[in-house]
This record gives sequence, C-alpha cells and structure tokens, in this order.
Amino acid sequence: MNNLLRFNANTTVKHLRAALVEAGRIAYTRGLLTSNDGNLSVRLGSGDILITPSGLCKGRLAPDDILLINAAGDVLHAAGGLKPTSETPMHIEVYRRRPDARAVIHAHPPYAVALTLAGKNLRADILPEIALTLGDVPTTDFALPCSEENAAAIRALIPDHDALILRQHGVLAVGATLDHALIALERVESCAQVQVLAEMMGQVTPLPAAMLPQLHAMRRGS
Ligand SMILES: [Zn+2]
Repeated sequence: MNNLLRFNANTTVKHLRAALVEAGRIAYTRGLLTSNDGNLSVRLGSGDILITPSGLCKGRLAPDDILLINAAGDVLHAAGGLKPTSETPMHIEVYRRRPDARAVIHAHPPYAVALTLAGKNLRADILPEIALTLGDVPTTDFALPCSEENAAAIRALIPDHDALILRQHGVLAVGATLDHALIALERVESCAQVQVLAEMMGQVTPLPAAMLPQLHAMRRGS
C-alpha cells in the first residue's frame, strides 16, 4: 500500500482526506497532540484547502469530518454542522507566505512546549540532525491561541523556516506533503526531548564549532 502522506499535484481529494485522517492518527498516537488539540490541512491545486474540524480528536477522524474552505477561509463544504479549526487564520497565513507548502500541521508536543515555558529555545548547535535538516527552529512571540494573533506571530518567520515553536502553545510544521510536515514535527519534538533530558543532567555539549558550517552547507546542498 502506498504511503498516504506522500502526494503530488495529481493526488485526488479523496486521497487527501484519507491522508489527513492518517496524519492525525499518527500524530495523536505519537503523543504530538492530545485530547482534541491540534489541526492539520492540505492545499489543493485549486488553492482551496482541506482542513480539520474544531472540537474533534484528530486521532479519531473520519474522511467526511474534513472541511473544504477557500483561500479566504470561507467554508465551501462541511458535514454535520462541523466548523473549521479556530486556527484556520494561521494555516491560511502559511499558504499565503509559502507557495511551496501544501501541508500544515499544528500540534502540542510536550517537550518543545516545555522548553518555551522555561524560557529556552530549541538549540540548533547540539544535534547534527537539526543542523542537517531544519536548521534554526525559532520560537515565536506569545500569541493568543485560536486568534488572528497566531497568524501575525508566524508571519515574519514562516517564509524561512519549515518548523516554528509557538511560545507556550505548540509547534507549527509545514511541507510539500503531509509526510514532510510530520517528519519536521517529529524531528522538533525528538530534539527538544533530548535537549530537555541533557539540561536536566546539567551538561549540554555543543557540536564542534567547525562542524556547524559543514552541516549547514550539507543542508543547503552546497
Ligand atoms: Zn494549538
């Protein structure tokens, strides 16, 4: 069976609904979002957006739960009185700023969020996989969740980053496919977990300084 989360311009809407259900199930099972938190979306070739509903657990969605909205956020199709996620403005902001992005996942992974509660950033100089893949993962200013403030908080950062940490709230990951976005999200949380554990032991050793430019060059493919 094909990996549902990989798709291209020819992928059908039916496939993308199933892919959103599957990505939500994986993120929920991995503990990256819990309860009825988090939200996921994909952009269609038309510019319209499939997006998860408000209020339901993203680990137990059905394909028909997914809403169709346009690029302005107007609901084009919704089953059973469902409403789009209250974080819809943040998703729309990503698609406005990132023509390359076709998938957005917002989750509440505990280690990444805990770092921000402690006033710390995810360090890009301690683990090769961060330097090699995502590079710097900045933390936004605090913004009121479920409001237009989140769209404003990510505006300046999202053009240059595939993953952001939303201060005292969660993580935003984007990609060309749901697979890319989920990989970025998992990477952020895994590295945050290692950083938290190392800081609990009191000693965090950075990578050798000479290695960082090499890793950054490898990431850029230069
Ligand atoms: Zn949230």
